Amino acid sequence: MTEEFIPYGSQWIDEQDIEAVAKTLKSDYLTTGPKIKEFEEKFADYVDVKYAVAIANGTAALHAAIFAAGIKEDDEVITTPITFAASANSVIYQNGIPVFADIDPDTYNIDPESIKEKITDKTKAIIPVHFTGQPCEMDEIMKIADKYNLTVIADGAHAVGAEYKGQKIGSIADMTTFSFHPVKHITTGEGGMITTDSKKLYDKLIKFRTHGITKNSSEYINESHGPWYHEQQKLGYNYRITDIQCALGISQLEKIDKFLARRKEIVKEYNKAFNDFEGIIIPEQLEDTNSAWHLYVIQLDLEKLTADRRKVFKDLRDTNLGVNVHYIPVYYHPYYQSLGYKKGICPNAENLYERIITIPLYPKMSDQQVEEVIKRTKEVIRKNQK
Ligand SMILES: *Cc1c(COP(=O)(O)O)cnc(C)c1O
Repeated sequence: MTEEFIPYGSQWIDEQDIEAVAKTLKSDYLTTGPKIKEFEEKFADYVDVKYAVAIANGTAALHAAIFAAGIKEDDEVITTPITFAASANSVIYQNGIPVFADIDPDTYNIDPESIKEKITDKTKAIIPVHFTGQPCEMDEIMKIADKYNLTVIADGAHAVGAEYKGQKIGSIADMTTFSFHPVKHITTGEGGMITTDSKKLYDKLIKFRTHGITKNSSEYINESHGPWYHEQQKLGYNYRITDIQCALGISQLEKIDKFLARRKEIVKEYNKAFNDFEGIIIPEQLEDTNSAWHLYVIQLDLEKLTADRRKVFKDLRDTNLGVNVHYIPVYYHPYYQSLGYKKGICPNAENLYERIITIPLYPKMSDQQVEEVIKRTKEVIRKNQK
């Protein structure tokens, strides 16, 4: 008999969510209506920031933030290779150049020391990614940004609800982006958000989301022709999110604390099971941070194993665990190779990549499923121990 398949991540939709969406479907606005503002205000309130802009998806959020930061041709933006490609792609959308800094081998997050080494007179911004939900060393990063006059755009796709020194992720960097893809903390199907305390950045983000068009007369460059008048001032996109999606987002956000608590509870079980288990290194956490635990990444202690990651991964998949790898270093992808990025630029990231496996973690997991993941993972590792 084959065992139950357990994916690495999954949404949790309940009747309240379905009702909220149905109600919006019966309302006057499917898009550009009141649910968008309501979702933005509630999200801003949650992360304790002045402004939030809801947008089509997390990638559009990054693109908008790169635009608002004024990134243009040949500007360099420093980010990590241990992230989803979108963190770096967004820079290229505006003809900037992603520069990869190495990671800290303990936290797997971008290493502030490596950021410093990568700064040139073309550097304009930093995109730290709060990988797995663990906050980056923001004090260090903001200090560097201050010294070199750089904009910090944090990719918080993994970090809704994470805290750094008591402060929510979303209110520390100049801008923070979020994703509401179904594997993330809360979902709108597709969706994203940018948060900022800056009115100036907010105004740019809002216009970018709708073609670069403004209907705010106080901003007009030319004289108004009449009540129908509006102006396209920059090249923007249609990156709008719908009221249907935002209604779901509002309903999901009401459950964020429950979702986060359940993720933490599961992590506690995993830590207990795998701490001191030969062949597995559990994820290390910085002091004074509170991870949102989007992912649970085990690192294989290859010196203690007879197998490599490829073999262990296959063995885990063979037990019907939906394990995954987060991430292939961005510059390994053929597109980045075609741009001239060479292997070897971030040795810590490359070394980590050979050893990591993401095991299932999502709030809807039952205790029994958690036990199953532990049991199957231990069996596979035991089989491959020296
Ligand atoms: C999910 C994710 C994104 C992209 O978000 P989408 O909503 O899928 O566009 C960007 N960065 C990271 C780190 C992500 O995990």
